[in-house]
Amino acid sequence: MHDRLSRKLTGFGTTIFTEMTRLANERGAINLAQGFPDFDGPEFVKDAAVAAIRAGHGQYARMSGIPPLNAALARKYLRDYGLVYDGDTEITVTSGATEAIFATLQGLTDVGDEVVMFEPFYDSYRASVYMAGAIPRVATLRTPGGDGPAWSFDRDAVRALFGPRTRVLLLNSPHNPTGKVFSRDELEFLAGLCEEHDVVCVSDEVYEHLVFDGEHIPMATIAGMRARTVTISSLGKTFSLTGWKIGWAAAPPDLTFAIRSAHQFITFATATPLQHAAVAAIDAPPAFYRQLTADYREKRDLLVGELARIGFDLLPPAGTYFACAGFGRFADGAGAPFKDDIAFTKHLIDVGVAVIPPSVFYVHPEHGRSYVRFAFCKREETLRAAVARLEVLSPTSRES
Ligand code: PMP
Ligand code: GLN
Repeated sequence: MHDRLSRKLTGFGTTIFTEMTRLANERGAINLAQGFPDFDGPEFVKDAAVAAIRAGHGQYARMSGIPPLNAALARKYLRDYGLVYDGDTEITVTSGATEAIFATLQGLTDVGDEVVMFEPFYDSYRASVYMAGAIPRVATLRTPGGDGPAWSFDRDAVRALFGPRTRVLLLNSPHNPTGKVFSRDELEFLAGLCEEHDVVCVSDEVYEHLVFDGEHIPMATIAGMRARTVTISSLGKTFSLTGWKIGWAAAPPDLTFAIRSAHQFITFATATPLQHAAVAAIDAPPAFYRQLTADYREKRDLLVGELARIGFDLLPPAGTYFACAGFGRFADGAGAPFKDDIAFTKHLIDVGVAVIPPSVFYVHPEHGRSYVRFAFCKREETLRAAVARLEVLSPTSRES
């Protein structure tokens, strides 16, 4: 069955999100695996989409995005971060952040070029790097509980990854799956490496409005980085509309030229009426964004508090809608500790809760075997129902 698959896609299998959602549906497990809300996006955005369809916005959009959306995004970057972008020459609307990442890597890298990134990584990163013919060079975010602070990285190890073939640093903050929000000091360090090696930073900021501790600092606001950063985000997380797949990339004209050179032949343009509705979304008043963070903070605190009470090892994530939790205190049916994240994930499916085994987000999977990822972008009743099922987990005999 796999005989005809190209070499560049061999080994990736089926994405874990598809796998876990399929399993959850088949087995009747509560889906805290794939990161999508089990509630709907805001009425005012949906109304705007219906109105756009009724108004006849049914044909191809401009390749780089409908002018009012590009303009709204330019307003957004100014309003939120004081960043000045020209909507027409520096912002490209794509089919989700996923396409923005793919098009950017296609546009900026040649066969054999290197892309520095952190593991664990969002799973499309490595595949997108390979499809561009480039090579991932990976630094590991250390799990909490070591000697350093939570989810830190070894600066010398990162520095050692940069070399003459490095074209791109692919960064994600707030970070999926760890919930890490990169600090100013960390961003400045990475910016220094980008400048030193003339590297472009592709900064995936899809969780920019889901920060609970500290603040989101866009890489483009770090001194010298506006000119060498592609900032990527999307409507999905902020407006609980992951199925709309409206994303974008903001970058100076030379980088935008590269992105559009690829985007025009990947999707050309993305859904026109949804772009019109996206204008209403992006222009939402500050109260909308405040409420979003407040709602998600409650969900985070609920899930993290309950998981800790049940016996998981975890720290509250600073951002995103994911919580990573160690399961070292639980035992399998034979009273033994679980072998790895896959074994524990299988057990949780039996318990009735689907999660993500994060070792699939690593080039060195051994670093991701001691914890699992829970998504808390779910209604309170869903989270409570999942917690109720998790109560049956039993502690290892060495603890009990
Ligand atoms: N980047 C990260 C870090 C993500 O978690 C996701 C999520 N789903 C994406 C990109 C893709 O975003 P989109 O759905 O807009 O393509
Ligand atoms: N970003 C979401 C997650 O990390 C899922 C994306 C997808 O299903 N492709 O769970």
